[in-house]
Amino acid sequence: MADARRPLMAGNWKMNLNHFEANLLVQKLAAGLTEQQLTDVEVAVLPPFTDLRTVQTAVDGDKLQIEYGAQDISQHKSGAYTGEIAGSMLEKLGCTYVLAGHSERREYHNEDDAIVNAKVKAAFASNLTPILCVGEGLSVREANGHCAHCASQLDAGLAGLKPEQVKQIVVAYEPVWAIGTGKTATPEDAQEVCGELRARITEKYGDEVGNAVRILYGGSVKAANIAAIMAKPDVDGALIGGASLDAEEFASIVRFRE
Ligand code: PGA
Repeated sequence: MADARRPLMAGNWKMNLNHFEANLLVQKLAAGLTEQQLTDVEVAVLPPFTDLRTVQTAVDGDKLQIEYGAQDISQHKSGAYTGEIAGSMLEKLGCTYVLAGHSERREYHNEDDAIVNAKVKAAFASNLTPILCVGEGLSVREANGHCAHCASQLDAGLAGLKPEQVKQIVVAYEPVWAIGTGKTATPEDAQEVCGELRARITEKYGDEVGNAVRILYGGSVKAANIAAIMAKPDVDGALIGGASLDAEEFASIVRFRE
């Protein structure tokens, strides 16, 4: 990664951990990292909604240098949307980040590019930083369509945003075939797509935005493979699922330089 961009390691807990377990994990994670490590690398956790208040209390109460956010956001502001969570509610809980377009939302909840774009905009409307996820399935990769597929998801996700907003956004490249499968993309695979995404952002929004935006890799990241992935110039961090549920493993990922 380029020195100017601060690495971000974001743990996507998915549908795991009740609020007691969440409290324990966040405390253990912070205890396993020094102030310097948490300054050099930004660490964020993305717990289930039911854990957010607990994580907020732990982070605020003990002044932990850990950011947190949600895994999803409603595209609507408020009202009769049973089961949904509004951006203003996440903002009130002190969230920094929110995922938009995770492949599990796209696949199991039929979230298309238009909905993902609406969620990205809803995030900005509530002062949250969206982590826009893009990634191809196996058949697209086998047909060599991965770069075009991810570029098109990126374009759709960013549609209608101002350059200042694009500059703040985090993009996560997560090849669907590598999520939770133990099959990590090679560092070269990760760089190929992350480089392509940055080039596209630069082309559309200019050098300043392209150089500032952080692009993460996600898909079976663990302590053993993070250093090689982070060595690539256009990878600025990781979105970590399974390995983020283990405080020691997650902390080792954060210490990828050591
Ligand atoms: P994984 O999940 O690290 O368990 O592969 C990554 C993700 O889905 O964000």
